[in-house]
Amino acid sequence: MAKYLCIRCGREFDESQLAVMMNVRCPYCGYKVIAKARSGEIKTIRAL
Ligand SMILES: [Zn+2]
Repeated sequence: MAKYLCIRCGREFDESQLAVMMNVRCPYCGYKVIAKARSGEIKTIRAL
């Protein structure tokens, strides 16, 4: 399962937690810019 990282508060969460929000945002602080962390690669995702 994909791991995500909030670039604002630094918390990690997974895909299922993201789905609960039905949006691309941090479930902890609500920040709309998160990073997708995949084995050694971090890709920033910015909500539209
Ligand atoms: Zn956050």
